[in-house]
Amino acid sequence: MVSNRKIVFIRFSLLAGVIGILSISSFAGIGFIHSLLATSIGTNGHYDKVVILNFDDGRLSQYTNAIPILDKYGFKATFYVVCNYIGKKDGYMDWNEIETLHKEGHDIGSHSMNHVRLEKLSKKDVEYEVGQSKRCLQKHGINATSFAYPFNGGSDDKTVVDIVAKYYEFARTANAALTYLRCDSPKVQPTQPDCRTYTDSNDLTYANRYTVRAWSQDATRIEDSASDNVMEDKFIRIVNSQIKYNNAGTIKAIPIIIYHRVGDSEDSYNTDIKLFNAQMKYLHDNGYKVLTMADLAYDDKSNYLYLNDLKSETEQPFKYVTTPTIAPTTNATTNVTTPTIAPTTNATTNVTTPTIAPTTNATTNVTTPTIAPTGNPILDALKKLFGLK
Ligand SMILES: [Zn+2]
Repeated sequence: MVSNRKIVFIRFSLLAGVIGILSISSFAGIGFIHSLLATSIGTNGHYDKVVILNFDDGRLSQYTNAIPILDKYGFKATFYVVCNYIGKKDGYMDWNEIETLHKEGHDIGSHSMNHVRLEKLSKKDVEYEVGQSKRCLQKHGINATSFAYPFNGGSDDKTVVDIVAKYYEFARTANAALTYLRCDSPKVQPTQPDCRTYTDSNDLTYANRYTVRAWSQDATRIEDSASDNVMEDKFIRIVNSQIKYNNAGTIKAIPIIIYHRVGDSEDSYNTDIKLFNAQMKYLHDNGYKVLTMADLAYDDKSNYLYLNDLKSETEQPFKYVTTPTIAPTTNATTNVTTPTIAPTTNATTNVTTPTIAPTTNATTNVTTPTIAPTGNPILDALKKLFGLK
């Protein structure tokens, strides 16, 4: 005969076991939700928040201070280097460091031979600064596909732009929070219809593949005499300003952020390590896809810019995640030995495969999954055991 005490004990053990199983199931469910969330923004071009990071001039503190933080978050960036500074000037990276960045998957772009104002040079000298810097990087196994204008000068000069266009697919300047991939900045009127470099009357357009605009965090800090707290807020506002233009799979606006020194003792054009880390952490924690300039591409038919890995996505309906139902599974009944519990139906019949259906509402991709479905055999058994309805 089994004492009452023992029955109580069995019932408590059973209760603990069932709670344990439910907890494990819920925990597994949360993991599943996380993987769904990650899927919706992180792979196959389904992300809707992107940012491109640029580091100008090839400063050593980028290598010593910024890279460990980028590595921590798995971010890659574009480094615009000045050929005649490399390994020759104090406070700048050497070839070993540049080649290491390249091998580690960072994008290396050209920032000219000597960092001088191109719009003030003769055609021959522009040719040297622009073309020779491409060859200089090639000698070190680097095919630079983009160029950054020193002092952001020259993108409004036809001679300069035409020479840049001979060697590079893109060129970057500054003075805008967002780059619009269709070059239709609402702030510039009349708005451009596309990204052609020249207008019909042979004038340079405001935005084109050789005038890709970016925002300099360090320059803004100095111009606005802003504290790090103010800069952190500003950074968040700038990276979020893209949200109204982008849906998952359709990116129309990208913030490109320029850094110079990171954690350097000098104050000018420098971002404190703590601020830099906070900015990168923000991008990481908020699901931003961090890209480089090498991820940009140009469509000759539409004359729009686009992101390389989104090309195929535009040709098919996007798949979004909608309301997955997650049921506790894992043969829960095998853990229950007391015969007073009626055998339940095979637990696998309670598993509903989350349906992934196309939806037109691109901004709300993931609806909170329902974790506790009705008709749970364990809950039913538990209720029955304790005489609950
Ligand atoms: Zn520069």
